[in-house]
Amino acid sequence: TMAQSKSLLVLENFIGGKFVPCSSYIDSYNPSTGDVYCKVPDSGKEEVEAAVKAAKDAFPVWSSKSPLERSQILNKLADLIEQDLEAFAQAESKDQGKTITFARTVDIPRAVSNFRFFASSILHHVTECTEMAAMDCVHYTSRAPVGVAGLISPWNLPLYLLTWKIAPAIACGNTVVAKPSEMTSVTAWMMCKLLEKAGVPHGVVNVVFGTGAKAGEALVCHPDVPLISFTGSTLTAQRITEKSAPHCKRLSLELGGKNPAIIFDDADLSQCIPTTLRSSFANQGEICLCTSRIFVQRGIYSEFLKRFVAEAKKWKTGNPSDPTVSMGALISKEHLEKVRNYVRKAQTEGAKILCGEGVDSLALPSGNQKGYFMLPTVITEVKDESCCMQEEIFGPVTCVVAFDTEEEVIKRANGVKYGLAATVWSSNVGRIHRVAHRLQSGLVWTNCWLVRDLNLPFGGMKASGIGREGAKDSYEFFTEVKTITIKH
Ligand code: NAD
Repeated sequence: TMAQSKSLLVLENFIGGKFVPCSSYIDSYNPSTGDVYCKVPDSGKEEVEAAVKAAKDAFPVWSSKSPLERSQILNKLADLIEQDLEAFAQAESKDQGKTITFARTVDIPRAVSNFRFFASSILHHVTECTEMAAMDCVHYTSRAPVGVAGLISPWNLPLYLLTWKIAPAIACGNTVVAKPSEMTSVTAWMMCKLLEKAGVPHGVVNVVFGTGAKAGEALVCHPDVPLISFTGSTLTAQRITEKSAPHCKRLSLELGGKNPAIIFDDADLSQCIPTTLRSSFANQGEICLCTSRIFVQRGIYSEFLKRFVAEAKKWKTGNPSDPTVSMGALISKEHLEKVRNYVRKAQTEGAKILCGEGVDSLALPSGNQKGYFMLPTVITEVKDESCCMQEEIFGPVTCVVAFDTEEEVIKRANGVKYGLAATVWSSNVGRIHRVAHRLQSGLVWTNCWLVRDLNLPFGGMKASGIGREGAKDSYEFFTEVKTITIKH
């Protein structure tokens, strides 16, 4: 309608410190209503070229500032985002479908702390020095920013994951061209409006909006972008690896997961059940760290299942701005259809759907009838080889199966192509260590989930990624090291 199009947000690329319109736009939807929320620039080679040039021009000055000067600017930016926290949270919820509560308590606070964290950690790195007395030599290492960093982020935690890349990249003295997901671009655009006030010089942070195939690939293929930090699907990562191979680019790849929860019969179920509900369904199950295979030891299997399903049925799904709602809308119509298809496939294979999709009915407020909602869904009696137990579903669907021994469950938990995050529940400390060591997983949480120390490495094994991010890891990725030998 006219009224609708009048209030439509129209985003612009942010290049060299200026907002620049684009010649064509794509629609981005509000997942909880199905309406168009905003117009996103459909950038391509030309826009990426301009952004890379601006970033290249800004590099000499930015890279020669002291870490302390850069740190102060990052802190200022963090403060400005925090001052606008509510507006950012509203926009993230509207753009992504997640609950306003989640955006307010997780997404935006984390974006703020990403800047604060790297503003601080950049001040505390030390390089190495060794001595070879017999040769009259000392050796030391020095680290320098690499140049223009290409940053590509997904739609599930839009500002959170984008700032987790921008902050370390610019703290280290690089300049960046970022490409957020075309489905969730609004908060990145809002952040651009604060850069000047924070004191970020023109050209240090450039944001080019658009699709992966056009804007993303132009960035990956650009010869003047020596490093790409990517978070997204394994399939896209393969494409990016291929496309960047001719340039020998440095890649950091944070990809999908098929994360197991392993629950031994000595687990404290009063802690385990609510946490496993969150780990399965938080953010509509659209977190790479979400649990989607729950292995429960035989002795407590039926009790766990009964209590878990009862709790899952209590999760309220609906209008993301309703504070009593735990689950909002999925990102898109296509994604909702894909997630539903997994449930249907499991059913045709003989699995049982205990609650959610196809079992319970979902009552939605009148304004949300066209939104992309589905209920938290629990599947059981599903074989390990089934696609629901092998592939990343990335929605509110989790499978629960029984196991007998420690040896058996480790083998089954490791029996997928992914290796991102696992949870282990037990009160036996020895067992926890044994199992944690043998799991093929970049992160192992025991008796908890999603407790992060940003200092420590984050990332996946196997098809879940290459490289790690964290205080030291991001510093190493975003800088080039040199070994210097001095003979005296
Ligand atoms: P996606 O791979 O489809 O897209 C991610 C980003 O890459 C988007 O900005 C997209 O536009 C861009 N892109 C797509 N094709 C491209 C190409 N050919 N060249 C360059 N860029 C391209 O992923 P998604 O659907 O947005 O996000 C969901 C996926 O992200 C899931 O697999 C999830 O597990 C993963 N993820 C991983 C982590 C992690 O830290 N390991 C965190 C969040 C999400």
